[in-house]
Amino acid sequence: MTIILNDSALQQSENKSLAGKVAIVTGGSRGIGSTIAKELAKKGAQVVINYNSAKEAADEVLFEIEQLGGSAVSFQANVANFDEAQSLVENTQNYYGKVDILVNNAGITRDRTFRKLSEKDWNEVINVNLNSIYHTTSAVINPMLEQKFGRIINMSSIIGQAGGFGQTNYSASKAGMIGFTKSLALETARSGITVNAICPGYIETEMVKEIPEKVKEQLISKIPMQRLGQTSEIADAVLFLANNSYITGQCINVNGGLYM
Ligand code: NAP
Repeated sequence: MTIILNDSALQQSENKSLAGKVAIVTGGSRGIGSTIAKELAKKGAQVVINYNSAKEAADEVLFEIEQLGGSAVSFQANVANFDEAQSLVENTQNYYGKVDILVNNAGITRDRTFRKLSEKDWNEVINVNLNSIYHTTSAVINPMLEQKFGRIINMSSIIGQAGGFGQTNYSASKAGMIGFTKSLALETARSGITVNAICPGYIETEMVKEIPEKVKEQLISKIPMQRLGQTSEIADAVLFLANNSYITGQCINVNGGLYM
C-alpha cells in the first residue's frame, strides 16, 4: 500500500509546527535567547537573532541554525532605543516579509541595594528590560492585527513576582512586563494575537554566573527541585506558547517550584 502525505501531514511528520512563521528573538545571541532561537528554527520558523554588542555570538547561533537546515538572520539593534527597535522590526519585514512571533527576551541586571542604586542603574534596567518591549511591540502590533495572527512572549522573571534583594530596578522592570502582558492580551484577544509572559526562576546562564558561588549554593538549596534550570526548559515554554491559540494574558512559571 502506498501512503501519500499532503503538505500538512508532511509538516506534522517532521514536527515543523512553526513552518511558515517568522520569529524575532531579542537578545538572541547568548543564554536563554540563543536556545530559544535555535529551538524555534528547529520547528521550522524563520528566525531573526537580535543582539546589541555580541555580533560573533549571534553569528555562531546563526551558523548552528543553518547547519541544522534552518533559516535565520542576525540583526544588531539596541532595543532600549526606540528608533533602533523599530528598525529591527522594519528590517525583519523587509527580509522575511512579516513578523508572527515576537520574543521580548533581551534583559540586563544592575544589582545594588536600593541605597546604593544610582539613577543610571535604575534607568538602564528599566530601558533595556521594560521600555524595550514597548519599542518592539509597538512596531509589530498593527501588522499583527491586520494579519490576525501574533504571538508575543515576554521574558519576565520570578523576581518580578517575588522581589529580589538588591534588585528593586530589575524587579520593577519584570513586574511591569507582567502588567503590560495582561493589558495587551485584553486589547488583542479578539484578533488572533496571544500575549503571554514567562517567569523563569534561576537558569544556568551568564546572568546567573555573576551570582557569588556561596549565594548560589544557598539559592539552590531553596529550590524544591534542588538545581538550576536549563535554557532548554525555557525554550520549551516558548514553543508551547507559540503553538497555542487559547492561552493569553498568562505568566508561565518555569522555576523548579521556587515560587508557586
Ligand atoms: P544573558 O545571558 O545575559 O543574555 C542577555 C541577552 O540580551 C544577550 O543576547 C544580549 O545581547 C541581549 N541584550 C542585552 N541588552 C540588550 C539591548 N539593549 N538590546 C538588545 N539586546 C540586548 O541573559 P539570560 O540569562 O539569557 O536572560 C535572558 C532573559 O531572561 C532576560 O530578560 C532575563 O532578565 C531573563 N531571566 C533570566 C533568568 C536567569 O536565571 N538567567 C531568570 C529570570 C529571567 P548582547 O550580548 O549583544 O549585549
